[in-house]
Amino acid sequence: MQVIRTISEMQEISMEYKKAGNKIALVPTMGFLHHGHLSLIKKAKELSDIVITTIFVNPKQFAPHEDFDSYPRDFSRDSELAQDAGTDILFIPDILSIYPKDFTSFYTAGKISKIFDGEFRPDFFDGVAMVCIKLFNITNPDITVFGQKDYQQSRVINKIIKELNFNIQLHIQPTIREANGLAMSSRNVYLSSKEKEKSSILFIAMEEAKREIQKGEKRRKIINAIMHKTLRTVPEIKIDYAASALSENFDTPEEFLPGDNIVLLLAVYLGKTRLIDNSLITIPSQLHKHFE
Ligand code: AMP
Repeated sequence: MQVIRTISEMQEISMEYKKAGNKIALVPTMGFLHHGHLSLIKKAKELSDIVITTIFVNPKQFAPHEDFDSYPRDFSRDSELAQDAGTDILFIPDILSIYPKDFTSFYTAGKISKIFDGEFRPDFFDGVAMVCIKLFNITNPDITVFGQKDYQQSRVINKIIKELNFNIQLHIQPTIREANGLAMSSRNVYLSSKEKEKSSILFIAMEEAKREIQKGEKRRKIINAIMHKTLRTVPEIKIDYAASALSENFDTPEEFLPGDNIVLLLAVYLGKTRLIDNSLITIPSQLHKHFE
C-alpha cells in the first residue's frame, strides 16, 4: 500500500493507473476505521483494480460547537486496517492543501441537504459535498463506495454525481452493526458501556416500525410515532428526529402507498453522543382478502 499526502502526486498516480487500463475505486473516510469502513474497502476491491482510501477529517462538515478537534484519530492503526482490507493507495491530504486560505468555492445539494439531518446540521451536507467533489477531481475514480449508514449523505453524493456530470458509479454498502444492533461509527467510542447497552433502542425502534408497516400501517405520522414511543423508553435519549419519508426524494406524504420504497431515519443524542441510523423498507402490496 502506498501512502500519498500531496494532491499533485495523487493526481499523477491515478492518471497513470487509468492510462494503464485500471479501474479505480474511491472510498472516502474520516478515519478511525471500523468494520463498516472496512466493508466498503473490501467491496471496492471486488469492484475495481485499484482502491484509493482517503482519510480526511473535513473541517467544513463540522459546526463550531461540534467535535472537530476531539474527533478520534489514529493513523498507524488506520493504515494497517486499510491495507489489510485491500487498500492500494491511502490518500491523506492536509487541510491547507484541500482548503487553501483563499478558498471560496461552494456547492449546495439544495433541499436534500437542508431537511432531516440538514435541519440540525445546516452546513454539514454542503461541507461533505465540497470535499467529495474535490476528492472526485483529485482521484478521478470509476467507482465510489459509500455506506448506507449515512443514507442522506449517499443521496447527496448521488445528486452531485448526476448534477455535476461525474462519470462515477456510486455503490452503497449496507450498514454494519454491533451485535446489539448499534450501527458502527467512529463516534461510538464516546459512548460509556451503559450507553452502549442502551443504544440498541435505535435498532429496536426501527424494527418496531417495520413490523407495523408489514402488518399494513401506511400512515406516516403513526409510523413516526411508533419510533418516538419506543425511543422514549430510554430516558437518556433526546430525539432530534425519528421520521419516515420516500427514500428516493425524502417526500413526506400523509400516507404511503403500496410499493413505495421508504426510509426510516433517526438521529438522537444518547447522553452527549449524537447517533444516526436508518432503515429501508417497501410498503407491502395490498393483502389479498379471501371472501368465502
Ligand atoms: P465516515 O468516516 O464516518 O465519514 O464514513 C466514511 C464512509 O463509511 C461513509 O460512506 C459512511 O457511510 C461509511 N460508514 C460509516 N459507518 C458505517 C457502517 N456502520 N456500515 C457501513 N458503512 C459505514
